[in-house]
Amino acid sequence: MTAAGHPEQLIPVQVRHLAHPPLDASMRCRIAPAPSGDLHVGNVRTALYNWALSRRHGGTFVLRVEDTDRSRVSDEAFAAAQDVLRWMGLDWDEGPGVGGPFEPYRQSERLAWYAEAADELERTGAAYRCYCTPAELAQRRDQALREGRPPGYDGRCRSLAEEQRVAFEVEGRTWVLRFRMPPGATTWDDLVRGEITIEHSQIPDFALTRSDGHPLYLLAAAVDDVGMGMTHIIRGEDLVAATPRQLALYAALGHPQERWPAFGHVPLIVGADNAPLSKRNGEVSIAWYRAHGFLPEGMVNYLSLLGWSPGGDREVFDSGVLVAEFSTDRVSRNPARFDLRKLEALNGDHIRALDEADLASRLAPVLVGSGLSVTPELLRAAVPLVQTRMSRLTEAVDLLWFLLVDEAEFEIEEHARAKALGEPAGGVLRAVGEAFEALPSWDAQGLEDTLWSVGERLGLNRRKVSAPVRVAVTGRTVSPPLFESMVLLGRDRTLARLKAGTAV
Ligand code: GLU
Repeated sequence: MTAAGHPEQLIPVQVRHLAHPPLDASMRCRIAPAPSGDLHVGNVRTALYNWALSRRHGGTFVLRVEDTDRSRVSDEAFAAAQDVLRWMGLDWDEGPGVGGPFEPYRQSERLAWYAEAADELERTGAAYRCYCTPAELAQRRDQALREGRPPGYDGRCRSLAEEQRVAFEVEGRTWVLRFRMPPGATTWDDLVRGEITIEHSQIPDFALTRSDGHPLYLLAAAVDDVGMGMTHIIRGEDLVAATPRQLALYAALGHPQERWPAFGHVPLIVGADNAPLSKRNGEVSIAWYRAHGFLPEGMVNYLSLLGWSPGGDREVFDSGVLVAEFSTDRVSRNPARFDLRKLEALNGDHIRALDEADLASRLAPVLVGSGLSVTPELLRAAVPLVQTRMSRLTEAVDLLWFLLVDEAEFEIEEHARAKALGEPAGGVLRAVGEAFEALPSWDAQGLEDTLWSVGERLGLNRRKVSAPVRVAVTGRTVSPPLFESMVLLGRDRTLARLKAGTAV
């Protein structure tokens, strides 16, 4: 059979997908990660926008896991992806662990749907078996590039004669199902970028399955997006080229255009060097940020700003503001530059905005995880010492080490010792220790007044008298406020450390 056997496929089609489903409770948005490892900044920013859009209008947010490529998606990655989304506060209404009317939501468990669609596409002639081997494809691709032709699939198997097809099968060749892209053009009204037209001459026939029959992304996502009734799909700009292919699949599968979702493509996230954010120019894994002391509130705030902004010049906000105000027309078309300093600054703002009990409960696992032991009472008392001094929770480990460390393991940092505990320091510490010992009570004001008066007596300015005390008591040149620190450390431990500090 030749291509003429499918004349309907040769009539150019002008696809115009300009209508948008309404922004109301009938909305269905989704995030469809293919987690081969940790979810990255780009995945989660996309999740955040889809979540906010559906939440804003009272619609439904769906989590679908694109794991048809079993070699890549482990059960650990599947579980970790859900964990990260939950940590970020991105709850889903349908999906793994929650269920829903379109169960299952894990594509590896939906293979029958894709197989059925593939069969239908083959039966109607919308797709054909392609017997080209990877080596042949590579060779023809190289040749095309050498001759200045487009390197995509050249249509070799598009209209194979039946004898040729049989001959290939007899030869033992395997095949993939390839979509017969009709000539013409597709235009859609992108929720972010406005009208986009792509000529089909730019779109070579594309593979729908692998040679083992497993569905590829374009097919599986097209089947599920319409099958699960998605109405609005926000996704990365790297998928602009997938859109005309997926719309062509919807048409070929007979889905009426009123049921096609609207698409919005959000800009790339780039690093400081303007190259797409990747391990080479930044940290991409959300799990990394979580492990390095970033709050989900800080991440939500910062990731929201990577391509979107609320009205006015508000920079610090929570997910409530995102949900109340998110709209695709405020999403930028320009690449968003990831700036760790700015994330840290926002994270610090969110740390300062927490109430003390909340901050204490978030610090506890960080401190315990780094080997320090802490009682709830002590931690509650210590929170005010550090709350305004951190841009990451993990900084509390260094700041509170002096207080939480086992006394037997307390050690003065070498460079701090060299800097502040030189020759005259022994006398200073002895005098301060004696004066502190004589105090009738142990409070910050009393300690402060006493220290300054010892300084005056010794003819030392405040910096000179406090520096050796800080180093002897906290082991560092930088610490939380000294007098409050000594109050929390307590009389005995403070006096013992001052005494130990005199042994220089
Ligand atoms: N699995 C795709 C990704 O993680 C989803 C693409 C889509 O949203 O259609 O990039």
